[in-house]
Amino acid sequence: MSDCIFCKIAGGEVPAEIVYQDDQIVGFKDIRPVAPVHILLIPRKHIPDLTAITPEDAELIGRLHLAAVKVAADQGLAERGFRLVNNCKAEGGQVVYHLHFHLLGGRQMRTLG
Ligand code: AMP
Ligand code: ZN
Repeated sequence: MSDCIFCKIAGGEVPAEIVYQDDQIVGFKDIRPVAPVHILLIPRKHIPDLTAITPEDAELIGRLHLAAVKVAADQGLAERGFRLVNNCKAEGGQVVYHLHFHLLGGRQMRTLG
């Protein structure tokens, strides 16, 4: 069995506030939100980080973005805008090694860094 917390969330073994799911993607609220809207979008497939994607994952990554846009619209962010972030590996600030994108919104975002 996988030891990955996000695989467990996708599999329903660990509870989360799920806001989106389909056959390939799950979206759920971040447990430590840094914005009024802070949702994580993950593939059900365990991919450790963005450098591990292959050409076979191209459609999946596209679907992740389509899901992010749908969730953003559901959260009332379609007109206001939002930020979609991937933290990749140590210097990118990645903590959980299951690929995920942070959907952040509901407040003005500042410069990166
Ligand atoms: P990252 O630094 O990009 O790896 O971000 C990992 C994110 O996962 C952080 O924002 C955490 O607050 C969030 N997180 C960790 N465990 C959980 C969990 N069980 N449910 C929801 N969010 C989580
Ligand atoms: Zn995983």
